Amino acid sequence: MIYRTDMSMRFDFVSIFPECFDSYLGVSMMNRARQDGLVSFRFADPRKYATDKHHTVDDSPYGGGAGMVMKPEPLFACVEDLLSEGEASRDRTRIILFSAKGRPFVQDDARRLVGSYDRLILIAGRYEGVDERVHEHLVDEELSIGEYVLTGGELPAMVVADAVTRLIPGVLGNAESAETESHSEEGVLEHPQYTKPEEFRGWRVPDVLLSGHHEEIRKWRERMSSRRAGTDIETV
Ligand code: SAM
Repeated sequence: MIYRTDMSMRFDFVSIFPECFDSYLGVSMMNRARQDGLVSFRFADPRKYATDKHHTVDDSPYGGGAGMVMKPEPLFACVEDLLSEGEASRDRTRIILFSAKGRPFVQDDARRLVGSYDRLILIAGRYEGVDERVHEHLVDEELSIGEYVLTGGELPAMVVADAVTRLIPGVLGNAESAETESHSEEGVLEHPQYTKPEEFRGWRVPDVLLSGHHEEIRKWRERMSSRRAGTDIETV
């Protein structure tokens, strides 16, 4: 499904380690999408918004406990500064905080974000997380990328940016790729893929794929796809 044909998406990454993003966003599809003007990236470091001499962005938790918590003031100032620039209106902008306790991010979220917004402000937490007032009063939603704890929200921010970027028309070489991929519809998983050689260490490519019978190939792929998703009759 093509969502819009006229779009570009701006990603604002809020992180105290902006250098984390260079290598991944600077190669392959993400870099091409940027060069083609389909996405733009902006990196904002909350540390620059901390007003004390040492540019402090964290402090100890009230009530005691392990580790440090990200202070609200630099994060609010940083995001509010971002909101004051750029062309996207506030209602076409989504502010997302990454958190291990957030709602799990799924392909439907990528579709929703690409369909409804021109700009995503992606906030990467560090330390033991961020002051609860950021969750409550600054962000629109809180997403997790899985049930495990990472050191920071930079990888989750890139995961979401990547999944969203793939859905922007013109990003994938073949316009149909996003329509036939895993999760393109609920319960759909892509069929197995093979390339040359026909035989590798005694393992042959299924004969049907070499047969040239397009209808048979289509049916085989459909069958394999359902089998993987556990929706075929044989496996029920
Ligand atoms: N103390 C927190 C907890 O128990 O939920 C974990 C904090 S974690 C060390 C630091 C930051 O990494 C979080 O604020 C968040 O931004 C990011 N993070 C860690 N795991 C994540 C996940 N599974 N999904 C999204 N963000 C995650």
